This record gives sequence, structure tokens and C-alpha cells, in this order.
Amino acid sequence: MPQPAARLSVFTESVIRGMTRLANRHSAINLSQGFPDFDPPSELLAALHKATDGPHHQYAVTWGAPRFREALAKKITHFTGIPVDPDQHLVVTCGGTEAMMVAMMTACNPGDKVVIFSPFYESYGADAILAGAEPIFVPLRPPDFSYSLAELRKAFEQRPKALILCNPSNPTGKVFTMKEMQEIAALAEEFDVYVITDEPYEHIVYAPGKHISFATLPGMMDRTITCNSLSKTYSITGWRLGYVMASASVIAQARKVHDFLTVGAAAPLQEAAVTALEFPDSYYDELLASYDNKRSVFIQCLERVGLSFTRPAGAYYVMVDISPLGFKTDTGAAEWMTKEIGVAGVPGSSFFREVENRYLRFHFAKKEETLLAAGERLMKIRQR
Ligand code: GLN
Repeated sequence: MPQPAARLSVFTESVIRGMTRLANRHSAINLSQGFPDFDPPSELLAALHKATDGPHHQYAVTWGAPRFREALAKKITHFTGIPVDPDQHLVVTCGGTEAMMVAMMTACNPGDKVVIFSPFYESYGADAILAGAEPIFVPLRPPDFSYSLAELRKAFEQRPKALILCNPSNPTGKVFTMKEMQEIAALAEEFDVYVITDEPYEHIVYAPGKHISFATLPGMMDRTITCNSLSKTYSITGWRLGYVMASASVIAQARKVHDFLTVGAAAPLQEAAVTALEFPDSYYDELLASYDNKRSVFIQCLERVGLSFTRPAGAYYVMVDISPLGFKTDTGAAEWMTKEIGVAGVPGSSFFREVENRYLRFHFAKKEETLLAAGERLMKIRQR
């Protein structure tokens, strides 16, 4: 029999989504795959009803419905100051995951190298392999997940085509400092490299931090391919709405990749999401305040249990050190915790290039009561 493509043997199915299936099978509280257990804003749901009653049931423009792109461009300009032309600088995708794949296929030829910080969000490795590119991993070292500039420079000396920057970072909760971003920008310029950024948590950066879009750094707009998503900002992970923002010449190519990958994102959902993109600033303040509270609640649970962790500066994930539990592998620990304790997290090893069995990643995009219930279940760990 013919064999499937060899490149598929080099990566696995998503460990994150596998943990969700395991959590569901065991009725565990699912703090693995990062998505809310609360509803999106009610105005957005009303807009969805209206959109489905309206004439939005056929293909939207491949690179995004005009009304959606116009609202998106305005929102981006409002928050970043970047003068976004909706007709030239945007491609609307099926979620941030497609955006990353489009960016990678747009930037890289087979054989090109791509710098990826480790730990990294799991799709980057797969994206690189599917695009025929070869990852060069640069470690982010715990507890603060900082990189060594010398190691980063060595990676650039291997002449990569692109670097992937997830900021705020999934899975670590790290928010890159201005100094770090300037270092990356200087290297990108010196070695003529694209910076592919993944910024779905842009509105979840805790005080005193502030989100800085990499494309706003001096001279970086033309070499940055910004990937983003509406999933986290508006609590609509199932809508699969994301986008790529880049210079007109990059977008002209990215449109082709997107066109033949998926044709387009769902038309009625783009129509409805215009309402979200027009929310006032107070929406984003409330979103952040609510996540700040969830972070405190969950962190206090972890403290009561007595586990150590790196306090996230952004996003809604926390890497928890489970080494005191004495498991040989983090996968074993994750399975035990799901089945016996009733709380699911993601084995940290699925994010690291290095062999690393010390962490489970939990997310706290859940109602306060869910987090407290998870905290109560986690207390049973102390009896181990
Ligand atoms: N970004 C979320 C996570 O890291 C969900 C990813 C997904 O399943 N698309 O858990």
C-alpha cells in the first residue's frame, strides 16, 4: 500500500486537544485547552442572531468580508497606531492557527530555517514542518523564561528566513520586554529575517505591563507578519476568526495561500463580529480586569496546594512545577491528575524542545466558581 507523507511522522496530533478529549472522558475540570466556560458578550450574540437571519450565507470575499476588514483595520489602528489599509494589509483567516500556517507558507521556502523560542505553542513546530522549513530552537529559561542574547545571535547566524514570536507567550505567560523586542528587531534587520508574531492575548497583559505590537517598532512593519485572532479577546474560540496583518506586498502573497487553504472564514460570523470590533475601550478594560481576577483566584489555589509556578505577566496560562509529585513523566502526571484528581492540564513537555518533565500548563479562562472547584480538587494532591 502507498504510505502517507513522511513529514507526518515527525509530529503528533495536538497534545492540547488530546487532553480535552481525556478531560471529557473523565468529567475532569478542563484547564488544558485554553477556552472560556462563559458566554461571549450578549451584544455579540444578538449580532450573531441578526447575521444569521440576514443575507450572509454564501462565500465572503476570500481575504475577508469588507465590513469586517474595515472594522478590524479601525480597531487595530486605534490600539496600535498602525495605519492599516483594510484592502491591502489584512487577510481574514479561520482562526489564529490558519493565520500562522499562512504566515509560514508565505515566508518560507522548503529548506528555510525558522527560529522558534522553546517552550513554544505546539502548532509552530508542525507549521514549520508542513511548510518544509527547519526549526532552530532557542531556549527560554525558567523561572522568568528569558533567552540568552548570545544564543539568539547564534541562531540568526544560521541564516534563518523567519523568527516566530508569541507575545504574550503561550504557554509561559511571559511578556517580552521592550529591550528584548529591540534586540530581536536589531537581529532581524541585521540578518534580513521576517518576524512572524502571534498576538492573540494582546488585550490580556497585566499591570504594570503593556502590550507592544512588534510591528510598531521602528522599521519593523515591513518585515513583520502579525498573526492574531478574535478567539480570546471576545471569548469566541469556536468561531474560528483570525487574521494576518502585514505589508501590502506580503499580503498579496498571503492571500493566495489562504485562498487555496480554506477559501475563507465563515461569512455570518464575520458579519456578527463587526459588532465586537466596534466595542468601546471599556470592554477591553473589563476583559483585563476579569482575567486579572481569575489569575489571582487561580494563583491563590496553587499557593494553597503548595505548588510552585511562574506568575504569568500576560495571557491566561500558568506553568506549574509538578516535580514534587514524583512522577517520571509529565504525561503520566497529567493523566493521573485528570483521572484521579479531576483536573486536566497539558504536559509541559509538549511545548519544549528540550527534554522537560517538570511542568503542567493550566489555563484560567474559566468562571471563578470553576477555578475554585478546580482548586478544591487540587488540594487532594497533598495526600499523595
Ligand atoms: N490556544 C489554546 C491553547 O493553547 C487553544 C488552542 C487550540 O486548540 N486551537 O490551549
